[in-house]
Amino acid sequence: MGVSDGPLDYSDYPEFRASVGFTMRGCRFKCDFCVVPRKEGRARAHGTIAEIWRGEPWPRQLLLLDNDFFGGPDWRARIAEVRAGRFRVSFVQGINVRVLSDEAAGAIASVDYRADDMHERRIYTAWDQLGDERVLFRGLERLVRHGVKPDHLMVYTLIGYARGETHEQRDHRRRRLREFGARPYPMPFVRTPELVGFQRWVIGAYDKSFTWERWQAAGYSPRRLGDRRVSLPLFGAGTP
Ligand code: SF4
Repeated sequence: MGVSDGPLDYSDYPEFRASVGFTMRGCRFKCDFCVVPRKEGRARAHGTIAEIWRGEPWPRQLLLLDNDFFGGPDWRARIAEVRAGRFRVSFVQGINVRVLSDEAAGAIASVDYRADDMHERRIYTAWDQLGDERVLFRGLERLVRHGVKPDHLMVYTLIGYARGETHEQRDHRRRRLREFGARPYPMPFVRTPELVGFQRWVIGAYDKSFTWERWQAAGYSPRRLGDRRVSLPLFGAGTP
């Protein structure tokens, strides 16, 4: 999407109001569980904001599909366009905070970043590998220092991928992110009952009220907790 793809056809989605596109393609990294480096190759510039936005009367809302926004060589110009045009922008594929410079953290804090529904303030990022703890929190702290609220940070955690991963290792990431005030969002690599149960425990925010042992004893189901919270939705929007 963007200039080299020609205009997008939104006619099958008349209710959809945002404008979708890429300011860059590719990625600077090569995570071994990810197809992006293979499919898209090295990071390079793609469309401008002016090319992505559908124009009036469409709202100034951008859904950017970039896999590595700050890997795009022209990101400063794109941020300037977003600010000048007073756009809401959703970095739906996430920002790689492990390599986030102070300048980039300030750039994020300076724009009207939103969730993919364009309502809540939200930055998506990921903590997939346990060993990235130091660089991940360095990036999260940079964002907060520049004005991003910890509660705006949704952090996906890949679970069930690392060989020999234990529950304690999964829970360590959950606990550290909760302590920071961010929103952990586990993503099972394989859908075993335990991993899906762990995901439900966290994104339904049951982990705030019930121990893992109690959640397990309840068969990973709020209905069996025998608590007033049984009527809460498992995947309620914005609950983590
Ligand atoms: S940083 Fe993200 S897009 Fe890039 S290779 Fe890793 S998982 Fe894929």
